[in-house]
Amino acid sequence: MNALTIKNLKKQYRNGFVALKGIDLEVKEGDFFALLGPNGAGKSTAIGIICSLVNKTSGMVKVFDYDIDKQIEKAKSQIGLVPQEFNFAVFEPLEEIIINQAGYYGISRREAKKRSDELLQMLSLWDKRREIPRQLSGGMKRRLMIARALVHHPRLLILDEPTAGVDIEIRRSMWEFLTEINNQGTTIILTTHYLEEAESLCRNIAVIKDGCIAESGTIEEILDKLHIEYFVLDTDCKLKELPRIEDYQLTLKENGAIEVALDKRQTLNSLFCKLHEYNIRIKSMRNKSNRLEQVFLNLVDAEKEAQS
Ligand code: ADP
Repeated sequence: MNALTIKNLKKQYRNGFVALKGIDLEVKEGDFFALLGPNGAGKSTAIGIICSLVNKTSGMVKVFDYDIDKQIEKAKSQIGLVPQEFNFAVFEPLEEIIINQAGYYGISRREAKKRSDELLQMLSLWDKRREIPRQLSGGMKRRLMIARALVHHPRLLILDEPTAGVDIEIRRSMWEFLTEINNQGTTIILTTHYLEEAESLCRNIAVIKDGCIAESGTIEEILDKLHIEYFVLDTDCKLKELPRIEDYQLTLKENGAIEVALDKRQTLNSLFCKLHEYNIRIKSMRNKSNRLEQVFLNLVDAEKEAQS
């Protein structure tokens, strides 16, 4: 079954701007799905429509079996949303924030208290349950948003840039938590700028660009489309200039390292042999960026070229 089905979804804002130009999207139940795309691509608009916070202009959106035009309340109750901005009452104790949220879904206070206790513990906020959000760090506030979104046991959790501004350690622990609840059956959709996040967590991705879906598929399929890989090679000497090696696209970096762009026909090994002829030996090497990031950058570059 699909957790989300979107057909020919369009959104034109009141000022005439068309933010979504007719997108199709399917997310299977149990999936961990990333919606990627540059700023202004239309990700938040799409999420707003799925959660019935933004009115669509046309098209169809179904959350599990529920069409948002026909069974809006049912559709909404399937979703837990973690928006980008903190939007809780800053002077309310954490526990109250979570319990009060359950009230919107008709959950009894007793049941809500039980669930809140569970979530506060799962998200390492138990010690803070009587405190108010003002006293929390950014990472804790983020976890509070997740706890609140999960209080009614949603089958679909949607996170809009969940780890923006969160330090690396907290990011990793949030990844672990999200992976765990996904393993327990919750479908997750996230938008992210951290491409590493999508590559580490998600099985399927869609890249949205300029109100259209530019790419979609499994992570592997998207990576397969990549023709060029970038490597940075550290040498045993402080190079001042590069030898001319036919067919290879090399760039000398400030610290004497060599950056190379390899296409599928070329191998690093043959490059190493050629460098050796110039007495240059490679001490270490690394991928310049993660590969998904490169796909993403290629897409954005292609768009810039098309515009210029
Ligand atoms: P993303 O989340 O991918 O950064 P958004 O969905 O927020 O993108 O925005 C998509 C486009 O729609 C942007 O160009 C943005 O300026 C525009 N937009 C968003 N909200 C409104 C609005 N209320 N009125 C007019 N244009 C809007």
